[in-house]
Order: sequence, then C-alpha cells, then structure tokens
Amino acid sequence: MTRVIAIANQKGGVGKTTTTINLGASLASDGQRVLIVDTDPQGNATNGLGIDKGKIEHDIYHILIDEYPLEKTIQTTQHENLDVVPATIQLAGAEIELVSQMARETRLKLGLKKVKAQYDFVLIDCPPSLGQLAINAFTASDSILIPVQSEYYALEGLTQLLNTIKLVQKHFNPDLAIEGVVMTMYDARTNLGTQVIAEVRQFFGDKVYDVVIPRVTKLAEAPSYGLPIIDYDPKSKGSLVYNELAKEVLKNHG
Ligand code: ADP
Ligand code: MG
Repeated sequence: MTRVIAIANQKGGVGKTTTTINLGASLASDGQRVLIVDTDPQGNATNGLGIDKGKIEHDIYHILIDEYPLEKTIQTTQHENLDVVPATIQLAGAEIELVSQMARETRLKLGLKKVKAQYDFVLIDCPPSLGQLAINAFTASDSILIPVQSEYYALEGLTQLLNTIKLVQKHFNPDLAIEGVVMTMYDARTNLGTQVIAEVRQFFGDKVYDVVIPRVTKLAEAPSYGLPIIDYDPKSKGSLVYNELAKEVLKNHG
C-alpha cells in the first residue's frame, strides 16, 4: 500500500523541504520507491534534487490547473528509487487561479491516482501557506508530517494548521491523520531548544519522533549541489539523523 504524506507547516524556514528531500532519499536508500511532489512555487525541493528548472515544460502547475497528466511530469533524480514532480515559479499563480475552478481541492488527488501504485511513499512538500495548494496536498494525503523548528514560538501557528487539517477532514478527506512531528534545527548549545522540545512533546505526545534533527551546516549545503545529504556526505550527522527518521516512519507502517 502506498502511503501519501504531506510535509506541512505554514511557517517558512522550519525544515519542510530539507525533511522532504532527506526523508525521501533515506527511504529510497532503504529500497522504498519514493515520489516527491513539490507544491511550493519556490521549487526548493525541485532544485535541491538537482532538477534543472529551465528544462521543465510541464510541472505541478499544469497538473492542478489544466489537469495535465501527472505521470508526464515525473523526473527521475540521481538517487535510485527517488522521483520528483517538479514545481517552478509558474505555480505562484495557481493559488488564485484555482479559486474559480470546479473540484479544485481534489486536483492533486486525481493526478496521483494513476501513478500512486508505482510508489511505496509519496511525499508532498507543502508551501508556507494554508491556501489552495496546501488544501490540495492535504486532500491527496493519508497523513501530515509536521516539522517544528526547535525555537521559541515553535507552537505558534500550529493551531491554525490543526484547524485547516480539521476542515479538510470534515469536507474532503475524513481519514487524514497526523503522521508525526519532527523537531528540526536543534541547537544543543542552548537550553531553549530542550525546553521547546519538552513543550512540543507535551502538546503532541507520542506523535513526536524520538530522533531530533540538529542544526548541521552540511544539511544546508547539500541542496546547492542538487543532492540529498545521504549522497552529499553519507557519514555526516545530518545523514544519520534522517536515516533514523526514515526508520521511525517505516516502523510506524509495519
Ligand atoms: P522550509 O521548507 O520549511 O521553508 P527549509 O527546509 O527550506 O525550510 O529550511 C530553511 C533553511 O534552513 C534552508 O536554508 C535549509 O537549508 C536550512 N536548514 C534546514 N534544516 C536544517 C538543519 N537541520 N541544519 C541546518 N540548516 C538547515
Ligand atoms: Mg520549503
């Protein structure tokens, strides 16, 4: 069975894209067939996986707006078992254009229908907003994985995210679940991070993964080489922790 997971948090810069790319690559290295769907107009996941945006003719925009076949947009990456549906800046207009379209919330779900069975995991990298793009991602997903930055105000805004999840459950996708919460960019030199993690664990309970992603410079460098950390520097701490996260995700699905 394919598991479709949206990586979401409407705050920017919390580690959504880093988690999507590196969880995806770690799962793929384990032999899982993984498709990453980029739904952020910034296309950071597309870039970070080494896809040349200049050569893309059709992307997620065409899937959502023109019902263009998703399978025709799939690009392979240098990493075995890891494919991507790319996004380019064209997608920036989709948020507004979708408003006037029929069945707008289910466009991505429909697009995935045909190809889903070819993958074990579909990871959807969400934009930093809770508009039509996020709603399309949540409607197409089995669950939501929430990266939370280990910083002050970490919990701020999560109520809004949880409300959006409830709305999607009510109207489009009753079975939508919380996959898990991953703490990111933890800095062991401060007490603050530890406090924040305790707070988040109190709020989300055992939904919070055991592994905590530390702040590691190599994780920020890897995308500029178009590589997941596991290929850029397999022995780095960043690579080890995302492998750990992949193990926890796999454990939760037997
Ligand atoms: P989002 O997708 O939520 O906007 P990103 O994954 O793009 O967040 O991360 C924001 C910035 O922080 C990026 O420059 C990224 O390379 C960097 N970053 C993310 N996670 C880490 C980490 N664990 N250690 C160091 N830098 C990180
Ligand atoms: Mg991002």
